[in-house]
This record gives sequence, structure tokens and C-alpha cells, in this order.
Amino acid sequence: MDVLFKNIRLINPLNDMDEVVNLHIVNGIIEHCDSSAPKISIDCEIIDGTELVVSPGFIDIHTHLREPGFTHKETLQTAVNAALNGGFTEIVSQPNTNPCIDNALVVDYIKNKTLNMPVNVRIAAAITKDRKGETLTNMQTLANSGVVYFTDDGACVKSAEMMKRAFEYAGPNDYLIAQHCEEHTLTKNFSMNESDVSTKLGLIGYPSVAEAIIIQRDIALAEYAGNCRYHVQHISTSAGVNLVKSSKLKGLRVSCETTPHHIYFTDDKLMTYDVNYKMNPPLRKQADIDAIIEGLRDGTIDCIASDHAPHSSEECEVEFEKAPTGVVGLETSIGAALTLLYHRHKFNLKEIISLFSVKPRKILNLQQVIIEKGVSANLTIFSPNKEWVVDKNRFKTMGRNTPFHREIFCGKPEYIINNNFMVKSEL
Ligand SMILES: [Zn+2]
Repeated sequence: MDVLFKNIRLINPLNDMDEVVNLHIVNGIIEHCDSSAPKISIDCEIIDGTELVVSPGFIDIHTHLREPGFTHKETLQTAVNAALNGGFTEIVSQPNTNPCIDNALVVDYIKNKTLNMPVNVRIAAAITKDRKGETLTNMQTLANSGVVYFTDDGACVKSAEMMKRAFEYAGPNDYLIAQHCEEHTLTKNFSMNESDVSTKLGLIGYPSVAEAIIIQRDIALAEYAGNCRYHVQHISTSAGVNLVKSSKLKGLRVSCETTPHHIYFTDDKLMTYDVNYKMNPPLRKQADIDAIIEGLRDGTIDCIASDHAPHSSEECEVEFEKAPTGVVGLETSIGAALTLLYHRHKFNLKEIISLFSVKPRKILNLQQVIIEKGVSANLTIFSPNKEWVVDKNRFKTMGRNTPFHREIFCGKPEYIINNNFMVKSEL
């Protein structure tokens, strides 16, 4: 690799950097990074950076990679390819694989299979064995094998007693416990948000209070166990945002993510019974979206994660109530965030970059990315103003279940550079 991005805007919220530079990278190392002209060899590839922004590599802390166990939906390789195509240099796998990521053997399997890839694949392990909510996993062994946080995602840890024990174990070790916040007795057989729309369609609803109840319970337990670190996954309701906000004001160590689809669409989209809008948690109301956007602005919500959840086409071609929940997201996250937050809601680029890089790494205590001469490049490069039409057939993920097909986005991932690889997006 020998590449020069000429006149590219470099933004790193970590050290408040925002300047136009000539960025020269050779064999994965940043050789030059300022406004002066670098010395380059005759073989150097020169790319015009005037319409581009370079930032710390983006991380998606909530992705379902499906391997082991569900390779008809996705493999580690196709998930990594999707991440690259979507502008991510780092992703975190969720534990609902088969076997479940509840022991170090499965962690080692994923680590070995993703060694030397252009994307750093991190791992979240289960809180309870087989995510059944009955027995705690051996968190210490899992943490020692490199796991970055614990969650039973896909399921909520039902028992308050089990969550209390999880916090009591995690607390002294400072492990992060994350939760898929769903009070399951209120959401049995749900197809969508409980609302006027679910009534109209005659579908079983998932009431917003089912999210809020668990967030409230868990915050109380995390505080009781000694102000443990707690992370709310894919927040979808204004009630949930308010709970996280007040816990932060109290000084509790609570963090929170939301997804692009939860800020992009309301539950009105379900009127056509299109399974591409069937999520868990479900799409909500405009008032929820408004609260989430405000939460992203005021720091209540720390980051955006895709909840990338590929399914095979056969699984989705069934009647609405039987279709699986979840959508792919790695290749649409950046476009959706730039379109909605940068162009429509006037967030600045530094704020958006922070939501995808600095803040999520802070939640997971991962090393932050520095962009300067002499360091290894871990970079996401995107065009903030390029218009494009999402075409699911250009995705590298095996999943085609997306609500964004044919959506017009303004803002597009262009390249990633990481681990001495440079990959151009083919979206
Ligand atoms: Zn979940």
C-alpha cells in the first residue's frame, strides 16, 4: 500500500482536530499528515480528497455475525466484507450463535477465524449459559479470553435475581453488562409496536413500557450492586431515554446505544405488512424518534450501533407474523446517520464521527485511534455530501432484509484503511 489522499478533511473528535491535510500512508503506516506536500514515490496512488473526510475507524458494537451455527444467514467472512463495504474497521459480535458464545472455546474459534482480517472482530459473550437466564457464565474466563462485554442479546435476562448476581460479579472486575431490554411477559408473540397501528392491523403489540420497565429495574440493580457499568442496547422509546438521562445526571455509569432504523422510521411503515420493517425492539412513534435524536444530541445516547441481523430470504418469505425480527445494517448505518443527523438535523460531523468512533470505544474501554505521522492507520473515509441510492444487491452481507432498499442517502462510506489493508466501498 502506498497512497496519498490530497487535500482531505481530517476530523478526529478525540483531540478536537479538524483540518485539511495531505495524508500519505505506506504499508499501513501514516507517513505524512499535514498541509505540506509529502515526498512520494512514483508508484504512489494519488486520490483527490477534496470531497472526502477521514476519521478514526468506525466501530459497530452490536452486530450478529451468525457463525458458528447459522452460516446459511451469514459467515464471519461475509460479515467482515459487509463491515468493510459499510465503512467499519471494527465490529462486536453478539453471543446468539450456536453454540452460544458462553465459553472460551467459542471465543477462540471466532478469534482464530478472524485473525489477520481488515476488520478487528471483537466479541460480546453471554451473561448466562446458553442465554437461558438460569446460570451465570464464567465471566472471568471469558474476559481473560478477550471478551469486551456481556449480554444475552436477543433475549433479556428475565430474573432480577440473576441480574443482581451478574452485577455483583461484574462490579469488582469492572466488566460491562449490557441488556436487550424487553419484559418478555408483555411482549409474547409480538409483531410490532403496540399502538393505533397495531390495533388497525390486528397485530400483537410490544408496548413501549416493556422496554422502560427493564431499564428502570436494571439501573436500580446496577446502582444497588455498587454503581456497576451498565449499557442499554438498541434503545427505542422516549421513556427509556428519560430513564437513562436521569441515571446519568445522578452519576450512574450507564451508557446507551440506538440504531439507524429506530431513528429513521416510525411504525406506520408496518401498514404494508413488509417484513423488512419487523424489528426487535419494534419501530416506534415520532415522539420516540424525537426523544432519541435529542438524546443523541445531549449525550444521553452514547453511540449508534446497527444491530446487524441477517436472515436468509427463505426465512423472510413467510407470512408477517411468522417472519423473524431484525434487519441487516452494516452497509447502511453511515449513510442513514449522515442523511438524517448531518443533513436533516444539523448535527456537525465531529458529533457524528464521535458517535461511531470515540464514544463507543470509550464505553468498551478500547484504545482510541490517533491519526498522526508514524502510527498504524485505522481509518474510515467517507463523502459527507454524496447522494446515492441504496441497492441491496450491492451488499456484501448474505442478508437482503433491509428497510433501506432504494432509499436515497446523502453521505456515503468510501474507503477503510486498517491492519495494512485498504478497501474501497462498492455500495
Ligand atoms: Zn437485541
